[in-house]
Amino acid sequence: MLVNLHSHLEGRVRPSTAAELAAAAGLPAPKGGWERAIRLDGPADLTVYLAKVASTYPFFRSLDAARRIAREAVEDGAASGLDYLELRFGPATHTEHERGIADVIAAVTEGMREGSEATGMPSGAVVAALRHHSPETNEAVARAAARFAGIGVVGFDLAGDELLFPALAPHRPAFDIARAAGLGVTCHAAEAGPAEAAREAVELLGATRIGHGAHIVDDPDVLRWCAETGVVVEICPTSNWYTGAIASVTDHPAARFRDAGVRLVLGDDNPMQTGTDLRDERDILVEVFNFTADDLLAIERTSLDAAFTDLPHPTPAFP
Ligand SMILES: [Zn+2]
Repeated sequence: MLVNLHSHLEGRVRPSTAAELAAAAGLPAPKGGWERAIRLDGPADLTVYLAKVASTYPFFRSLDAARRIAREAVEDGAASGLDYLELRFGPATHTEHERGIADVIAAVTEGMREGSEATGMPSGAVVAALRHHSPETNEAVARAAARFAGIGVVGFDLAGDELLFPALAPHRPAFDIARAAGLGVTCHAAEAGPAEAAREAVELLGATRIGHGAHIVDDPDVLRWCAETGVVVEICPTSNWYTGAIASVTDHPAARFRDAGVRLVLGDDNPMQTGTDLRDERDILVEVFNFTADDLLAIERTSLDAAFTDLPHPTPAFP
């Protein structure tokens, strides 16, 4: 089974759709075309990587476009062989007003529902608060997300620049709102910041999953704590390589997590920027880190357990 638990909607905009939407809106084509504006040629740094993702932001100001992008993202996920896709996005990036935040969430969840109905692949939306936004804005995002709990929205996340905005405590009220609404909680943490940030995300925000968490392996205490508590780490090896967080994909800590007994799930983060999909990420685990069939089965089981949507577990071949 292929279960994708860390993927950003803003990183799944088809270049062909971007070109069409830009032409319809009268936006000038970027130099070199939309394919070049969106896709990276190869590993870069975080600034270049994020600029490529941000090139798609203007499209989300149109609710019709947001709905179409969401539907196509689900269709593309199904076409790549996924059995389930959790799509995260930051609505407050695309609008200034609380009512607008709910409108963006409505458009995205409607597009995802259309995509799931057309393909038969279930999907769930994870609404992301952003580190550089004020606690008040993130509380507004959480209130809007809560309105869609169970009707398209399944989880809540914190994304953004962890080095410039490391503090988690100010965003605690937003996560309290999300948890009270029954949403699952994940948090980008220990991606650029230290290992301890992962523990803070669990203890302060109630996260049960950590996005990336690459620096957790730097601290043996936190690594052991992760394994003991069963916190799930969402790993996205190619993304960490393309953002320059690791010098080579062979430096990714996937094997160290596995060897320490940390529960892992897989994501592709921003696949249009990196040109990968979940199958490629799984291949990396096998070819670079010698993950066995049992290791992959463990990831599948953890993914089904940790998904913010109730997914049917396949019947075991040998009961
Ligand atoms: Zn991410």
